[in-house]
This record gives sequence, C-alpha cells and structure tokens, in this order.
Amino acid sequence: MTLTLDRPGPPPTRLRPRAYRVGVDLDGVLVDWSGAVADQHEREFAWRPDITTWDFAASTALGDMGALMGWVRDRDLFRLAGPYPGAVAAALGLREDGHAVALLTARPAWAHDATAEWLERHGLGEMPLHLGPAKTLVDRDAYVDDHGPTLAALRAAWPWARVFRRVQPWNRPLPGVEDVGSLDGVRHRLREEQA
Ligand SMILES: [Mg+2]
Repeated sequence: MTLTLDRPGPPPTRLRPRAYRVGVDLDGVLVDWSGAVADQHEREFAWRPDITTWDFAASTALGDMGALMGWVRDRDLFRLAGPYPGAVAAALGLREDGHAVALLTARPAWAHDATAEWLERHGLGEMPLHLGPAKTLVDRDAYVDDHGPTLAALRAAWPWARVFRRVQPWNRPLPGVEDVGSLDGVRHRLREEQA
C-alpha cells in the first residue's frame, strides 16, 4: 500500500478501548473526606460547616486552610474518613470488568502512610497508587476527579481520554467532561462501551 501525503486523509479516529486504564481520585470520589471533616468539626465545635466550595476553610472554626490541614493531621482524618457508599465496590468492580485501575491523589506527603493503610484496610492495597499533585503526568484512558481545575487540566492534557467529573457542590460542568454522581456511574458508562 502506498501512502500519499498530497491529499487530506480522513479525520483521525480512535476506537474506544474495551478495557480502560482508569485513574481514580481518592478524596471526593472514593473517600468521603469532607464528610469526615464535617463530622469531626461538629463533634468538636458543636456546629457543622457547610462544605460547598473548594476553599471552605474560612467557613470552619479553623479559619484558613493551613490551620485546617494541621487539625486534620492531628486528628488523623485521612485514616479515619470513610468511603462513599458503594465506592469501594465500584473500584473493585471496574477491575472485575477488565479495566486497570490506578488511584491518583494529591494528598500531602504526611498523609501517605495513612493513605496506604486505608487502601489496605478497604481491600484496595494492590491497586497502583500515584501520589502527587501533577495528575496530568499519569497517562490513563479515563480519569475520575472532583476538582474543577484538575478536571480542566486533564481534559487539556489528554485529548483522547474520557474525563469524568464526580459531581460535588464544589465543582461545575466543564466542556468535554462527563458528569457522574458516583464512581459506580463511571463503571456503568464504561460498560456501555463493552456491550
Ligand atoms: Mg479529589
């Protein structure tokens, strides 16, 4: 076959894979970290903060994000936070469906031991864990996240990938980003590709 370069070819296409390499964020997707913060805050200060923005620290008794994160560290909330209902089963289910699941988190370095322990305790200890804020460096076919700027960066960095927004009060719809209400929603969307 001869390739000729003097006329435009068809637009580039790519078949969607049946098995995806999925990158799953922890807090806000798999782990109900904000719920753990609100619960602990209510126990300690007798009122529940309304966590509806990314920078919610000013609406807590702690005042700013530095103080809040120190408080989170002292109370070991990254270890104590629970998963969202069904989220662990969904992560394992994605793997059962043939996808390769890796976990991506921008948690601070001091939370890494608690994170590894948490994953082990919830039966996810074998899943690859990528630690660090630069999620765009991790090459995946699909990403699930809840942080608006991260979703936008992933969308821009990986044109072929599917990017899923785990809908939360602190994020908004973005062009080219698919909305899901849970990690199980991602599993269902990817299953549509396998049917
Ligand atoms: Mg998150």
